[in-house]
Amino acid sequence: MDKNQLYRRIPKVDVLLEEDGIRKLEERYGRSCVKRVVQDELERVRILIGESVDETDVLKAVEQLPDSISKSLELLYTPNIRSVINGTGTILHTNLGRAPLNREHAERLAVIAAEYSNLEYDLQRGERGERNAHFESLLCRLTGAEAALVVNNNAAAVLLCLSTLAKSGEVIVSRGELVEIGGKFRIPDVMEQSGAVLVEVGTTNKTHLSDYEEAITEETKAILKVHTSNYQIVGFTESVAVPELKAIAKEHEIPIIEDLGSGALVDLSKYGISHEPMVQEAICGGADVVCFSGDKLLGGPQAGIIVGRKCYINKMKKAPLTRALRVDKFTTAALEMTLEEYLSEERAMQRIPVLKMISEMPDTVKQRAQKLKSQLEQQKLPAQIVLEACESQIGGGALPLEKISSTAVAIRSEICSASEMEKRMRALPTPIIGRMINGIWAMDMRTIEEEQIPYIVGSIQDMLNSCRI
Ligand SMILES: *Cc1c(COP(=O)(O)O)cnc(C)c1O
Repeated sequence: MDKNQLYRRIPKVDVLLEEDGIRKLEERYGRSCVKRVVQDELERVRILIGESVDETDVLKAVEQLPDSISKSLELLYTPNIRSVINGTGTILHTNLGRAPLNREHAERLAVIAAEYSNLEYDLQRGERGERNAHFESLLCRLTGAEAALVVNNNAAAVLLCLSTLAKSGEVIVSRGELVEIGGKFRIPDVMEQSGAVLVEVGTTNKTHLSDYEEAITEETKAILKVHTSNYQIVGFTESVAVPELKAIAKEHEIPIIEDLGSGALVDLSKYGISHEPMVQEAICGGADVVCFSGDKLLGGPQAGIIVGRKCYINKMKKAPLTRALRVDKFTTAALEMTLEEYLSEERAMQRIPVLKMISEMPDTVKQRAQKLKSQLEQQKLPAQIVLEACESQIGGGALPLEKISSTAVAIRSEICSASEMEKRMRALPTPIIGRMINGIWAMDMRTIEEEQIPYIVGSIQDMLNSCRI
């Protein structure tokens, strides 16, 4: 067959669109989208003819058109962002979306998303309200601060604090606290962006009160304290805490800004974890402005929470940058629901997934692992299922040295290598992201819920069956 004959084998768009199979697709996906995909697929065959010398390839492509059209459409309508099962044991996994929300909260969030809300409407007065009003009093109650403001994330919060309170002035920071958080967030760069001049004091390992004192000039607009959340300097070290700085800050009438990073609202040392600086402590210790993340240890939506003295927060509320960094209705709703749980610590520990995972007893995790193991064994799979003691991590740049005892379910099979297994589990409709333990693919059960077990069992069964053929 010559090329012209091959071109004539390509069906016309209108003819294809009339076919039963394609009509069915039209009902499902809509006419204009199907038409566009049909055109694209026909174009693909035309290009193939132009490039190809092998007529069987072309005829095969023509024959498979309905199939490739259907596949193309399915791919177009498959959400790119979807839920995954976190078997890594890293509780705040930034790549996996950090903090998962309570399901009940998520359901209420869906209603807010689908309907109108009083986001910026004062229902009592019947006039324009503030979106900040939904959580400001809760934040004040929980942290002891006078006022609060929430922006897009903590990086934005730090930028807003510096830009509002210290633009064109100097900000003193210890050299031991010039942190890089990752994702291009470095304190010196944020400082530059804010229009404030960074004045470094002390050394990497030691900074004294006198270092701060000597650096204060007429131009000093603030002292910034940064929690070194993702690393620790140990050994011959010294830093100056906020209460010690308070006197000199007061004397010169300059605010102390504290970036806590994670900022816990509960004392994690009660649950066998190292003590992470709490927001209440920072306020009580004399910080004038404290900022922290919404989706780290707080366990809520992505947000940057700023609490502190009314005079400073009010100034920030009026800054034009605040409008550019404001949170949307989903964040507003999710944050209010998350904070509400903290009114009672016991409730927070149970109902905020991050806190629940952090504090869950190793034995409870092990029982869940045992449950998955026995359900897998009932399937008589060509694999060996082993429980492995392992260590979970908090992640998200919080408590980097913390290891939490946990149990993983490891799967070893003669017919499927660990890397093949990893790849196949990642390709599932709801991917299962595991971890390698001694070269074996495994799932840390601390970050997996009981309700996810049936899906995991089914997926592993399918995977091993498809490896068998
Ligand atoms: C994580 C972190 C930030 C950035 O917070 P995001 O909410 O991720 O923007 C800033 N400062 C410190 C100290 C942090 O640990």
